[in-house]
Amino acid sequence: MMLRVENIETFYGETQALFGTSIEVGAAEVVTLLGPNGAGKTTTIRSILGLSHPRSGRISFDGQDLTHMPPHRISRLGISWVPDDRRVFPSLNGKRNLALGTRKTRFRSWTEAEVVEIFPALEHLLNRECENMSGGELQMVAISRALLGSPGLVLFDEPSQGLAPKIVQDVMRTVSRLKAAGISSLIVEQNALAALEVSDRVYVMDRGRILHEGAAQELLDNAPLRRRLIGM
Ligand code: ATP
Repeated sequence: MMLRVENIETFYGETQALFGTSIEVGAAEVVTLLGPNGAGKTTTIRSILGLSHPRSGRISFDGQDLTHMPPHRISRLGISWVPDDRRVFPSLNGKRNLALGTRKTRFRSWTEAEVVEIFPALEHLLNRECENMSGGELQMVAISRALLGSPGLVLFDEPSQGLAPKIVQDVMRTVSRLKAAGISSLIVEQNALAALEVSDRVYVMDRGRILHEGAAQELLDNAPLRRRLIGM
């Protein structure tokens, strides 16, 4: 297993957000975590990134225990994050934003030219300031920056939020390209069937607990199960 989240309980002050959450992501595996507002998806990502340490349970990545590690050390192990609000520097161009995300890990390194080869649309964004980019273009920069961080695992927080359906398809295609390059992905979404189409497995959570775990294809094929779990 690349990522193993075992039975974690994470709190905000005295408010408990996760109640024994367990998730696994294998090498070059794509996993989607679905759930409604407030289910605990973002808290799960924050726990993995070391931004909210679990009070109990264990998280390991690539064989290393990161349960209590600070975020900067976790990122150096090869976990990249594509935040829902993209977090680019608006006044800097695409090239500078990518340079700021570049990092070496034990996983394969990528050059800017290689990333442009995977995402040809990126070429036009290198010299443009991020404040002059559309939502889809910013998402492309955020994903490219994640790749330049030499990840073994990329965490996508609501990647389709605010994007037109066609752009969402483009984003999901890039997840498949990362998988082909041997990179694992964990995608967090409220209700995106598009994510299931590129995923191997899916977890559904609500109120801090995992309700369902299974093959993504099963949820796509089984409409009654899907309606019961995610209401669509
Ligand atoms: P969304 O889709 O809205 O992002 P989510 O599934 O990511 O939802 P979380 O943001 O992880 O859910 O929230 C899980 C629980 O933790 C919710 O009950 C929420 O109210 C609570 N929570 C989240 N952030 C905080 C915080 N900073 N302080 C206190 N409680 C919080």
